[in-house]
Amino acid sequence: SPVPDYLQQILDECGGDTSGATADYIPELAAADPDLLGVCLSTIDGTRYEAGDAEVAVSIQSISKPFAYALAIAEHGLDHVLQRVGVEPSGEAFNELSLERDSGRPLNPMINAGALTTHALIGPPDADAEQRFELVRQGLSAFAGRELEVDEAVYSSELDTAYRNIAIANMLRSYGVIDHEPMDVVAGYTRQCSVLVTSRDLAAMAATLANGGVQPSTGEQVVERSVVRQVLSVMMTCGMYDAAGDWMSTIGFPAKSGVSGGILGVLPGQVGIATLSPRLDDHGNSVRGVQLCSRMSSDMGMHIMEPP
Ligand code: GLU
Repeated sequence: SPVPDYLQQILDECGGDTSGATADYIPELAAADPDLLGVCLSTIDGTRYEAGDAEVAVSIQSISKPFAYALAIAEHGLDHVLQRVGVEPSGEAFNELSLERDSGRPLNPMINAGALTTHALIGPPDADAEQRFELVRQGLSAFAGRELEVDEAVYSSELDTAYRNIAIANMLRSYGVIDHEPMDVVAGYTRQCSVLVTSRDLAAMAATLANGGVQPSTGEQVVERSVVRQVLSVMMTCGMYDAAGDWMSTIGFPAKSGVSGGILGVLPGQVGIATLSPRLDDHGNSVRGVQLCSRMSSDMGMHIMEPP
């Protein structure tokens, strides 16, 4: 197949760009190898193409957010989740202390306020922090088609410095948006962000969304099609931090990025896409990941607004 050669070629072409910087507000992430560069595609029938560091694991960070959102909707139904978390792009940074004025509802599940709320929704009301996290871990693993684990060093490093997320969680608690102990929610959410994934895993998770919620290798229906539609819609409008509009108009498929340098993209009905490169631009998106996705989008006609 010519695909791996093509992927290697675009890695070679983007590889020399060392602009941007690794995230440094989580000490352990600042220590990550900035030169990692990987790409993986997984079609909905489970065929995989990859090049570069596709097997290196990093913490999933914000790329966990759409999947936790999917799990919360699958468990409680969309109406219930919408009462707690909205679907409007915020146009602000991911860690902004932004809530809707009267309701206190976070604007969407991709900013931290919304992601903390989504995390807290998972599991039965009497679940403790550990049970909640375990359900999230199992859910993320089902999307990936294999058991995922936590990077304990990243977890403690982020939790030690989680002042901002603790502030957001306290605010959510004061508005009654979350009912749990704020510190428990921050700890659980931080563990969720610390789950280790390779580009292969991310491509498999993306392929599960591309495939209407059915994991291509295991055949498991992880969530219903209607849940996938909701998740992809929110990824499309809110998935790329405050560059979501630019991303959508130029690259044109729903995607989510994370501070460890991953980008996960979905071409519904076709393919899951993952890139990894830890240096980030000013919005928090991977510099070379954006370039790789841009190349693939134009070379392979992946912009979903482009008529066939
Ligand atoms: N754990 C990170 C945080 O909450 C995730 C941020 C991200 O990947 O955007 O700050």
